[in-house]
Amino acid sequence: VKKKGSKYEKQAAPVNKTAVLGAGIMGGGIAYQSAYKGTPILMKDIKEEAIQLGLKEARKLLAKQVERGKMTTEKMAEALSNIRPSLSYGDFGEVDLVVEAVVENPKVKDAVLTEVEGVVGENTILTSNTSTISINRLAQNLKRPENFCGMHFFNPVHRMPLVEVIRGEKSSDAAVAATVAYARKMGKTPIVVNDCPGFLVNRVLFPYFGGFSALVDHGADFERVDKVMEKFGWPMGPAYLLDVVGMDTAVHAQAVMAEGFPERMAQDGKTAIDAMYENERLGQKNAKGFYRYE
Ligand code: NAD
Repeated sequence: VKKKGSKYEKQAAPVNKTAVLGAGIMGGGIAYQSAYKGTPILMKDIKEEAIQLGLKEARKLLAKQVERGKMTTEKMAEALSNIRPSLSYGDFGEVDLVVEAVVENPKVKDAVLTEVEGVVGENTILTSNTSTISINRLAQNLKRPENFCGMHFFNPVHRMPLVEVIRGEKSSDAAVAATVAYARKMGKTPIVVNDCPGFLVNRVLFPYFGGFSALVDHGADFERVDKVMEKFGWPMGPAYLLDVVGMDTAVHAQAVMAEGFPERMAQDGKTAIDAMYENERLGQKNAKGFYRYE
C-alpha cells in the first residue's frame, strides 16, 4: 500500500481533464465520482440510452448529497456540468487520463483502446477498469504501452473506497503515478499491484467464495452462514455479497482464477455458485439470487 507522498505521487503529472469509455454501471459511477470531486470528465458510449442512464444515475447520486446537506444545489449543478456526455471522440485530444470501462470482452477492449490511443495526445495515460483481463495482454496491441495501466474500481463506485492500480510489465512510473493521483483526487484509496489473475482483492475474495460454496454443497444453510459472518463482524455474508457481485461475473472470474492458479483455484465439479448461475439466479441484477429482491 503506497502512502501519500510515495515515490509514485511525487512523479505524478497533473490530471485535470479525464474521460471514461462506457457509461454503464461502472462508467456511470466513475463519471459521477470524478465530477463530484471536481475533475471534468467526458463520458463516451456507443449508445445514447446508456449515456442517458449514466447521467440519470449521476443526477440521482448528486441529489442525495444535496438532500443530506453535503452539497448546495449550485455545487450540484457545477458537478453535473463536469460530466460531458459524448457519442464521439471529439474532445479526446485534450484529456490527461482515460478510464476504459466498456464490456468485459478482450476483443472489444482491444478495439476501443486502439481507437482511443489514436485520438489522444502522446502523453495521455490510458487505463482499463477490467476485472479479469491481464493488463499485459491488453497492452500488447498498444503503440505506447508505457502509458497504460489498470485502474480497477469496485461496484458501486461511489461507495467503495478502494481502487487497484495495476502495473503492467511495460507501465511507466509516470503512468502509475498519474493514475494513483487521479484515484486520490476522486477521494479513493489507491493500491498499486502487479498484473496477475484476480489482482489483489479477487485473489482473497474468490478462495473465500469457494469455501462458502463448499459449505453449501455439504448442506449448510446459506442464510445461517451469512448471519455467522455478520456476527464475525463483516458487513455482509458471502451469499449476499455474491448476489451483489452477480453469479455470471463470479463464475467468469472464478474460471479466470482457476486458469491462472490451477493448483489452488481449480474446482472439482460444479459448485453451488455454478448451479445458481445455470438456474439463472444471477443475484440483484435479475432480482433473484440466493435471496429474492422484489
Ligand atoms: P456495463 O455492461 O454496465 O457497461 C458497459 C458499457 O460499455 C455499455 O453502456 C456499453 O454500451 C458500452 N460500450 C460497449 N462498447 C463500447 C465502445 N466501443 N465504446 C464505448 N462504450 C462501449 O458493464 P459494467 O458492469 O459497467 O463493466 C464495465 C467494465 O468494468 C468491465 O470491464 C467490467 O469487468 C469492469 N468491472 C465491473 C464491475 C461490476 O461489478 N459491474 C466491477 C469492477 C469492474
